[in-house]
Amino acid sequence: MQVYSNPAPSAWSALLQRPAAAEAPQVAARVRAIFDQVRAGGDAALLSLASELDKATLTRLLVSEAEFAAAAAQVPAELQAAIGQAKANIEAFHAAQREPELRLETAPGVVCSRRAVPVQRVGLYVPGGSAPLFSTLLMLGVPAQLAGCPEVVVCTPPQPDGSVSPVILFVAQLLGISKVVKAGGAQAIAALAIGTETVAAVDKIFGPGNRYVTAAKQLAAAEFGVGIDMPAGPSEVLVIADSSANPAFVAADLLSQAEHGPDSQVILLSDSSLVLEQVQVEITRQLATLPRRDVATQALETSRAILLPDAAAMLAFSNQYAPEHLILATDNAEALAAGVTNAGSVFLGHLTPEAVGDYASGTNHTLPTSGYARQYSGVSLDSFVKKITFQRLTAVGLRGIGPVVETMAEAEGLAAHARAVSVRLAALSTEAEATPAATEATAANPYAGLIRPSVERMQAYSSARDEFEGMAPVMLDANENSLGSVGPDDFSRYPDPHQRAIKTALAKLKDVAPNQIFLGNGSDEAIDLLVRLTCTPGQDSIVICPPTYGMYEVAANLNDVRVERLPLTPDFQLPANAAQTLAASTAKLVFLCSPNNPTGNLLALEALETILRSFKGLVVVDEAYADFADTPSWTTRLAEFPRLVVLQTFSKAWGLAGLRLGVAYAAPALIAYFDKIKPPYNISAATQQHAHAALAAAPSLSEMRAELLAGRTWLLEHLPQVSIVEHIFPSDANFLLVRFTMDATVVYDQLQARGIVVRNRTSQPGCAGCLRLTVGTPDENTRLVAALHEISQLAGVGQPLVVAAE
Ligand code: PMP
Repeated sequence: MQVYSNPAPSAWSALLQRPAAAEAPQVAARVRAIFDQVRAGGDAALLSLASELDKATLTRLLVSEAEFAAAAAQVPAELQAAIGQAKANIEAFHAAQREPELRLETAPGVVCSRRAVPVQRVGLYVPGGSAPLFSTLLMLGVPAQLAGCPEVVVCTPPQPDGSVSPVILFVAQLLGISKVVKAGGAQAIAALAIGTETVAAVDKIFGPGNRYVTAAKQLAAAEFGVGIDMPAGPSEVLVIADSSANPAFVAADLLSQAEHGPDSQVILLSDSSLVLEQVQVEITRQLATLPRRDVATQALETSRAILLPDAAAMLAFSNQYAPEHLILATDNAEALAAGVTNAGSVFLGHLTPEAVGDYASGTNHTLPTSGYARQYSGVSLDSFVKKITFQRLTAVGLRGIGPVVETMAEAEGLAAHARAVSVRLAALSTEAEATPAATEATAANPYAGLIRPSVERMQAYSSARDEFEGMAPVMLDANENSLGSVGPDDFSRYPDPHQRAIKTALAKLKDVAPNQIFLGNGSDEAIDLLVRLTCTPGQDSIVICPPTYGMYEVAANLNDVRVERLPLTPDFQLPANAAQTLAASTAKLVFLCSPNNPTGNLLALEALETILRSFKGLVVVDEAYADFADTPSWTTRLAEFPRLVVLQTFSKAWGLAGLRLGVAYAAPALIAYFDKIKPPYNISAATQQHAHAALAAAPSLSEMRAELLAGRTWLLEHLPQVSIVEHIFPSDANFLLVRFTMDATVVYDQLQARGIVVRNRTSQPGCAGCLRLTVGTPDENTRLVAALHEISQLAGVGQPLVVAAE
């Protein structure tokens, strides 16, 4: 090695030089001639160049199946195991480099994304000759396979006997590569760039090689539009060794680089003259037993050992040199590594020889040489993919960003660019005018001041999947279990967030449009969302008309919303001044239940109509029990009253309470607000499947309804005969509100003691002494009446009515 002692920084530039490629012009001319020959002769040219340059007489270029089949047997078991272990580490490190698809809404309605897509056709060059570098095939083949490159072809020079190293074939098989071409040097690169009968042209060429291969890759990139991994020159290492370094280790590292080839570059930096001397001694000692000592000796002749004042100077020199491999043989390697700005791959500490990275640790050994580490990275998974960007704008997005683009395009004088936006913006505004519903809704703005400001400001939720409607994409966006479900049915995928199938069927059945439907996890969810949609907590109020369904108040309380009460009359109708009172109210919504729960009666139609005309808030008509009544649904009046919301449920007449499916019907603009704030997947896949089937079986609904109504009639006949029954309120629902002559809570307890549970409503306004009895099966109804008779008999004989102890 040439030794330099404390050269001044001004003298570094000479020391930073790689040996000049003196014969470069001749190499370039020779490579061009080879390209011409391959272009003109195709496979025949490759065969003749194999004979001329590799001294191999070939009859065919492709490695045959028989050659593949014979390969493994020629690879010792120990080597096979070592290769397996190295492959696992390389796979692990490269698989971890995968990046998820990037997706960002840069502005409202402007969604940009970026996805990695494999390079489609790749050529891997594996040097052969004196040392077939099967490790290079691992380093290139593993990431190609992980990236999913559909076409992978390997070129490697044939041995003089026409064979290819069995280890290379063994590795190719491990990687699932079946196309191995017996071609080396510049002619292999020419074939990959231009294509021949046997070798299809590729999109990108990878792999190291001698100076002919390097020049050929550069020509392929410059003139044939082929990508290359990186410009490459002879391999090189720079070792920074301070006084903590072990001279034997350092010498071994330098020699491991020097044995690559006579043009290999080896640089040793130290701030200890003793270490420099000891390393020289060690090199001489180790060289003596090195099989490739001639090669290594030649390389060492142009290599340098440089004494520098301190760690900072060594680091500065190394960063200027930008070595392919950098070994930090010091105790404080981590700290030094933090200052590395230019290097292909860095090896830290005394126990980390470059050789581990060359073969088996997991990092790639295809690295930038000749100072290209200043701007190039080594081969990685990224080298085998392209990152494609995608974008999609909604109307909101185009309206927002369009004017920005118009301004910029006009300023650059690119009128056609500006027009690409303006024609679309113009189309959007005509579209908006042409939609009567939209104009009407905007003109009247029936929801002005009704929707909570935070909801107005919110973005509508959208699933990545919405973009793929009608397609079957690979769904890796929602962290589901791609393998399937535990249990008999497959529920591994999130359900349709828009519940299209049910909405279409329900819209048909109810004679409304699908966009007039919101489906909730029970109508209880719709009740909660209605409160949250309109009321700012701690500020707004709702109106309820007691006695009525309890969840209205629960939803208000949960949301810190005040409750105004407008009690029903003794016959459970709206009071005469209801419309007037509501007209003066600033409440955001009123809940009106018809047929009402727990009373069972329908609210007078005229009273509701006047409220719908006078109240400025939303009027929610809860029709949970409307299937049992004979009046038309309020859904038929939706077009007339934009602030009307009709609630229905599958829990009652449909007999599907277990599905938890409720419906809100309203004007599309109002439904759009529901969709904004609902949890994305609020209706489970099981519910969607079942409800869809139930909708198809809707005709059976009327039979069931008739049977339940017969049960109600039966109860209406038999309950009056029970002596403790004082009054049965008229019901249009599947339950009866019954007032008892005795303490209703005692009756309730006595029924419970007999295994019958009913609803105690005695504390509800206007319901003193009342229990609410659901119509059951004929047998259940009979049991209920019998139990009530029993209770009245006990009461009649003055028996103390206590609940049985058990
Ligand atoms: N509204 C009324 C009047 C109800 O009685 C009920 C349930 N008892 C509901 C809504 C809630 O029904 P769901 O099961 O759809 O949540």
